[in-house]
Amino acid sequence: MATITLPEADLQESKKSATKYVYFFGGGKADGNGKMKDDLGGKGAGLAEMMNAGLPVPPGFTIQTEACREYMRRGGVSKEVDRQMEEALAKLEALQGQKLGTGENPLLVSVRSGAKFSMPGTKSAFDEVFDAKKKQKKTKLDTDLDAKALKEVIEEYKKVVKKHTKRDFPQDPHEQLVMARDAVFRSWQNDRAKTYRRINNIDDMLGTAVNVQAMVYGNLGETSGTGVGFTRNPATGAKEFYGEYLMNAQGEDVVSGVRTPVPILELQRIMPDVYNQLRDITGRLEKHYHDMQDFEFTIQDGKLYMLQTRNGKRTGLAAVRLAIEMVEEGLISKEDAIFRLDPNQVVDFFVSRLDEKDVRPADVLTTTGLAASPGAVVGQIVFTADDAVTKAGHGAEKNPVILVRAETTPEDIHGMEVAVGILTSQGGITSHAAVVTRGMGKSCVAGAGEIAVDERAREMRARGQVFKDGDWITIDGSTGRVLRGRRKLLPPDPENLAKLEKFMNWAEPFRKIGVRANADIPRDAKKAREFGAEGIGLCRTEHMFFAQDRIPHMRAMILADNEKDRRVALKKLLPMQRSDFLGLFRAMEGLPVTIRLLDPPLHEFLPKREKLMVDIASLSRATAKQKKTLVDEYGDYGAKGAGDLKKILPQLLARVEELHEFNPMLGHRGCRLGITYPEITEMQARAIFEAAVAAEKEGVKTHAEVMIPLIATVKEMSNQGAIVRRVAEEVFKEKGRHVHYLVGTMIELPRACLVADEIAKEAEFFSFGTNDLTQTTFGFSRDDVNKILPTYLAEGILKQDPFAAIDRDGVGELVRIGIERGRKTSPKLKVGICGEHGGDPSSVEFCHQVGMDYVSCSPYRVLTARLAAAQAGASDALKVEGGRTK
Ligand code: PEP
Ligand code: MG
Repeated sequence: MATITLPEADLQESKKSATKYVYFFGGGKADGNGKMKDDLGGKGAGLAEMMNAGLPVPPGFTIQTEACREYMRRGGVSKEVDRQMEEALAKLEALQGQKLGTGENPLLVSVRSGAKFSMPGTKSAFDEVFDAKKKQKKTKLDTDLDAKALKEVIEEYKKVVKKHTKRDFPQDPHEQLVMARDAVFRSWQNDRAKTYRRINNIDDMLGTAVNVQAMVYGNLGETSGTGVGFTRNPATGAKEFYGEYLMNAQGEDVVSGVRTPVPILELQRIMPDVYNQLRDITGRLEKHYHDMQDFEFTIQDGKLYMLQTRNGKRTGLAAVRLAIEMVEEGLISKEDAIFRLDPNQVVDFFVSRLDEKDVRPADVLTTTGLAASPGAVVGQIVFTADDAVTKAGHGAEKNPVILVRAETTPEDIHGMEVAVGILTSQGGITSHAAVVTRGMGKSCVAGAGEIAVDERAREMRARGQVFKDGDWITIDGSTGRVLRGRRKLLPPDPENLAKLEKFMNWAEPFRKIGVRANADIPRDAKKAREFGAEGIGLCRTEHMFFAQDRIPHMRAMILADNEKDRRVALKKLLPMQRSDFLGLFRAMEGLPVTIRLLDPPLHEFLPKREKLMVDIASLSRATAKQKKTLVDEYGDYGAKGAGDLKKILPQLLARVEELHEFNPMLGHRGCRLGITYPEITEMQARAIFEAAVAAEKEGVKTHAEVMIPLIATVKEMSNQGAIVRRVAEEVFKEKGRHVHYLVGTMIELPRACLVADEIAKEAEFFSFGTNDLTQTTFGFSRDDVNKILPTYLAEGILKQDPFAAIDRDGVGELVRIGIERGRKTSPKLKVGICGEHGGDPSSVEFCHQVGMDYVSCSPYRVLTARLAAAQAGASDALKVEGGRTK
């Protein structure tokens, strides 16, 4: 039979095109390198880089992320992955002079996951077995279990495997290796990993790599050990060697919090040579990577091995301090430095401190917890993540809760998200609680060993006192203290703020787009200016009507069923609005103030239909006391005594029925209010211009931008624009003074984006209302989306909440079209954004990219937006890709 042979060239071609799945490292060199994080994951790339740099790294190989993606696509890997893995294993065996599973001294390997972005590990069923055995044997430390107990543990492990896989644990080590590899690939898809990726905005399709490495042992006795550390303090940024280790232990023991580790400086006393070598190596690593390193090491019989290095996670305070110091040391440039702070971490500079005057010794429960993540917070104790969610509530009703646990695991993420702070009794500076809270910018005291936490009994004991669910405590994540009760807190440290200012001064010159604030009252406007806001991008005028003295007039205006009565009510509102606007103009001193005309669905101001029905039904049986309560409640609607209720309530219900809408968010709101009731627009325009003229007469410059909401057609715009301009002329004539102003619109409906060229003929500026634009583009109700969103995120149907970060493909595309078409008509058209996205770093980057003039966000996000905008500008100017620290 003739054999078919490929021509030489084809053979070479097919060899070349075969994917390289497995990258070997050992004997001083590696197939990969540190730049290959996409393929090798952070850990694998780091190992390759360390090996190439000649550091003592146990040899092994990395199976790259493509194999994981293949596993996800096909439910298994191709034969080629297996083949390359066996080949690398043979190479490792040759190098070590050992064989997997055979001989007196067989080769043992560790199998670990390693994605591009580091993700916290998970507690496995095996850990539970081990912990149960320790409990049974009444031992505390892993190393306390004797050989017999360990054998029993292995029998239990086998049962776990059998239960989950329905087969016996395989005895062939090659098969074990394959199963361990595939388990890592599957772990990428578990719920905890998905949640972590969602919170941290990490792409599900990245996949994880698998690192297989010859084992080294930190638990061979008292000349062995293992530890973790940072080249600088990750909480403060101080240039100090920082970390912890344990003698006679494996890596798990240090991070799991079972044994409390020893500060790394102790190692200098016990093993000075190893300590000096470690300092030398990590110092070199920092210089090599130009960043603070987070490293893992093992000492086996007095010989040091480096297991991992990566850029360390840090608090915002640390990020800025070490960026500045690294510039001073000549390690990085100022341009590099400005990317070293995640804009979301700016908040760290504004977290509270404990007021020392309020710290009485009797209230201090411990001073020796680890200062894991800065900021002092006060809250009520909860012992489970689920309780945290229930008790913290949502939105405005949020109650501060502190999640207290022996240690946290990835299962606690949802509770950690809603808690104001986390307190753990076990675990070190690299424990799950510490790492995750630093990333979230949330206060955390970890490893507070003097506090005993009994999660089952829902009790915390400290200094002989028992604390239960709902008790108030104060934790200080900047110093590691825990106190009973609600202690006084102080605002942030000016010294750190000075550093932030220096840092911002480096970044700001790169910023191309403006940053304004959404502010409705002078106090917020002032705060926004302190943070550097360059104007008000959105004043929601309806917020001014919720005040006690206004709401009755507002209600009267809404309930009026004829123009005359409506005008009477509006006349009462006019002076109040005028003084509000005057306050804003004064606070902003000539900076632009964008005032949006009345927008909300009117039912927000009225009593609920169902409640009225119940009140009417119960009126005949009501006691005198209950009637009095109702009179108070309905006083705004003219109820002066119990006798009025019988008449007023049904009248009110009838009007509420008339105004009732099935979907008020898409109903009688926005410009539709001003079009159906022009007198509302007239009153608001009058208040704005009278205030502007009054301000100018006081010597305060003004720059009013009157904004018409929820425009879908150009005729809506011209209708409302004409009223505003007419009233402006009337006021200027009456007052004998003219002020500069613009009339523009919000773009928050898809149609408005598509006909933006037409709208721009009438509007002098656009402000994208991306809250409503997201709502109307997706057809999601912004108030009810949370019923759907968790499933959508869990299923990967959406990658992130589109109300938090702009959906670039859909909503973003409409924004792009809106800007392009608007500027076709009016090339200099001023364009901004005032939806919540204006304070989200990745959305700010998008706004920069599509050529907006400014973003507008809440006062407390102004600095975040400024930095995000500066980084976006710098990325352009310096052509750095993905410069932002992840
Ligand atoms: C918006 O829709 O994006 C917006 C800013 O307006 P509001 O949130 O008040 O509807
Ligand atoms: Mg809106």
